[in-house]
Amino acid sequence: MQLPKSRRRQKLREKRCQYPGCGKIFFGIHISKYCPEHRLDRYRIRKRTKPEDVNIKNQTYKHNYTEVVTMVLTCDLEGCEHQFEVKIYPRQYVYPKYCPVHRNEYKRIRHLEQIGREDLIEKMKAEGENAEVESIGHQIVDSKSVENVA
Ligand SMILES: [Zn+2]
Ligand SMILES: [Zn+2]
Repeated sequence: MQLPKSRRRQKLREKRCQYPGCGKIFFGIHISKYCPEHRLDRYRIRKRTKPEDVNIKNQTYKHNYTEVVTMVLTCDLEGCEHQFEVKIYPRQYVYPKYCPVHRNEYKRIRHLEQIGREDLIEKMKAEGENAEVESIGHQIVDSKSVENVA
């Protein structure tokens, strides 16, 4: 003798909303975590995505150009003097800050290891946690603050 299939329907049970500060009781299946309101998209708690794209590989360059201009930038990586051209577009403010080779994190780490700046590797990784990048437009005017600590 077999049990009717309808038995397999998920049973609703009393649940407490796990949305911070809510705690409302609602009926849901066992995997429900939030009350109907907090299941709405706008309440969804998003995992912070790594801001790597904008903040590690790129820089924010605030400018007022109304035409495309080409700029020569120097790689922002300690000890790398490579220059590269970047086209600056009107109303676009995010640009690469490393030379083409060093846009690869692995290569940046290798480079810092080679010049004995493991401390900067840590710093570079820590910087990825910060969402804010200040305008560093002034760096474009060749400010070589290269202090070679032997
Ligand atoms: Zn809730
Ligand atoms: Zn470089």
